[in-house]
Amino acid sequence: MTLPDASSPALRASAPAARPRLSVVVPFYNEGPNVEALFARLVPVLDTLGLTWEIVCVNDGSRDDTVDRLVAAHGREPRIKVVDLSRNFGKELALTAGLAHARGDAVVPMDADLQHPPEMLAQFIAKWREGFDVVVAVRKARVGQNFKQRAFAKMFYWVFDHLSEVKLPREVGDFRLMDRKVVDVINRMPERTRFMKGIFAWVGFKTASIPYEQGERAAGDTKWGFVKLLRFAIDGLTAFSTFPLRVWSLVGMAVSGFAFVYIVLRLLRTLFFGVDVPGYESLIVSVLFMGGLQLITLGIIGDYLGRVFAEVKGRPLFIVRETHGFDPPPNPAAVTTKVVVEETV
Ligand code: UDP
Ligand code: MG
Repeated sequence: MTLPDASSPALRASAPAARPRLSVVVPFYNEGPNVEALFARLVPVLDTLGLTWEIVCVNDGSRDDTVDRLVAAHGREPRIKVVDLSRNFGKELALTAGLAHARGDAVVPMDADLQHPPEMLAQFIAKWREGFDVVVAVRKARVGQNFKQRAFAKMFYWVFDHLSEVKLPREVGDFRLMDRKVVDVINRMPERTRFMKGIFAWVGFKTASIPYEQGERAAGDTKWGFVKLLRFAIDGLTAFSTFPLRVWSLVGMAVSGFAFVYIVLRLLRTLFFGVDVPGYESLIVSVLFMGGLQLITLGIIGDYLGRVFAEVKGRPLFIVRETHGFDPPPNPAAVTTKVVVEETV
């Protein structure tokens, strides 16, 4: 199937009616109290845009009544569609599932907690109609974050920018509009480590940005603890940079050069001043130092090896338990990037 050219809206208008112009993708994890509040604000905004729309809600294994509320909302408004995942896969994979199910010519991922103001959609659409493939919302201020979190974010961006193959735009989250052709590229990316910020930056395309004020979380707490955030940062870094792997050959060379000079000095000293037994400190210090260095190196190789292991297993990125409102229902094999069916005996 050839996709209509993004630059010609006339072409797209002739797309089959089943395909909405705009898909809003929302991941939900224990967001029960926010479900109705979100739709109450989002649906009226969508209705004013003057285009066909759908809301793809991904239930990311919530343990509260989120999924019941979503299915009830689907009963009242069929354009609200539900993808129920088999367990909690994490926000990045929930978003991946949502992008795989969205059919719109433009797709907007949005958080369920109303921190992303739906009113921005009109500006997104306006920019899209001007011919931009991606429209990102740039946060003016970080609300609801303390000093430690802000410092951590700052440090992460600094390290990431210096080490990785792509630069992450500052204060840009998942809240953005993407043209169908961008979504198709992202859906085709087979990697299992879905660091969405990096993936979005990596694909490129003609991008416009609009500043916005991020609101407070409507209800409930953020789902990110410090450890989860740290793991996320490390995942992002190792998915988009091989620097931590390569740097050790440089360190090794420097240490060997140093050792060589030291050996020469020690030899000369022994030649001119004879054997000198004391030397325990230098010995233990260098043994410990080298041991530590080797363990770090091994650990980092292990991290990458783990990643390669996850990739070669080729498991589906997410598992859909049930969907509501997708007609025809998506083929589960089609929405997962790679399903290995053959087994070599
Ligand atoms: N989320 C999810 N799976 C998770 C964690 C979060 O689908 O494992 C969703 C959550 O329901 C919300 C969005 O991701 O819609 C952003 O989460 P949160 O508001 O906790 O993150 P923050 O805004 O603090 O970055
Ligand atoms: Mg939030």
